Amino acid sequence: MILHSELPASLAECQGVDLHMHSTASDGALSPVDLVALCHRRGLTHMALTDHDTVAGVAAAASAAEALGIRLLPATELSSQWQGLNIHVVGLLPGEAQGALSTGLESQAQAREARAEEIAARLEKVGLSNALARAREQAGEQRPLGRPDFARALVDAGLVPDIATAFKKHLGSGKPGDVKAHWPYLSEVVEWIVDSGGVAVLAHPLRYGLTRRKRGLLLDAFREAGGEAAELISGFQNADATRDLARQLDERGLYGSLGSDFHFPGGPVAPGAMSPVPRTAVAPVWTHPRLSTFAARLN
Ligand code: AMP
Ligand code: MN
Ligand code: MN
Ligand code: MN
Repeated sequence: MILHSELPASLAECQGVDLHMHSTASDGALSPVDLVALCHRRGLTHMALTDHDTVAGVAAAASAAEALGIRLLPATELSSQWQGLNIHVVGLLPGEAQGALSTGLESQAQAREARAEEIAARLEKVGLSNALARAREQAGEQRPLGRPDFARALVDAGLVPDIATAFKKHLGSGKPGDVKAHWPYLSEVVEWIVDSGGVAVLAHPLRYGLTRRKRGLLLDAFREAGGEAAELISGFQNADATRDLARQLDERGLYGSLGSDFHFPGGPVAPGAMSPVPRTAVAPVWTHPRLSTFAARLN
């Protein structure tokens, strides 16, 4: 079945679109195929699979999406650093990852491995023996380790009561397990995405704990590097903060994207579930010329 609908030219009118979700290829709970099936059940027409630092789930998701009549954008959410902060950049790609992005993804996998060893060493100091093996056990399959795997290992070992506390005490921003040194600079990951023919989207700009002024500086640096869009909506967020962010995007001529940042069923968000978009002049990222085939009706 092929039944794609055309996407609207205005962000505020869009429905059935989610351009930020995770699968078991990174720290999501659903396989790429199960994620696409859930998106279909929830009425999505357009989606992007944005696993952390990998496109390993894209091929399986793409065939599932094709069979169900959902438009799927190949994508990834790249880890980077800027001014000592861990900044995420979503690359929305018109096709397969290529050029500098292909080599970049290989180096991200290595960086993640080296980082996991360092996180493990630091967590051993707070009492988690065999930290790397325990995180690996939590991850289950042979996918690259992330902080959520260490968080679950800390809970499993009884060192913290829950995941939230694991991040608050040991893994969150500024804590010993928040190891950023292995990630490339923001400008590098943006360049990889552009080199692959994609659009670089600054992920969840409201979730870095920045003042409005500092967020403006981040948006400037991102744009300077070749970034062209930012997520105006990421899951559920304060309406005033959204309007303020819309002004910051508008001032810089950045496109707007939106996504739930879905990781697992039963969590705070579901595919396609997020705050409404206010009336804004910010153009939807799918109106970017490089993503034109994604937004169009297929037949
Ligand atoms: P990593 O990619 O290894 O840096 O891990 C970051 C991931 O951890 C994010 O993408 C979230 O899925 C998850 N995460 C970050 N902060 C928290 C938190 N406070 N509670 C639960 N999960 C979190
Ligand atoms: Mn995640
Ligand atoms: Mn993120
Ligand atoms: Mn994400």
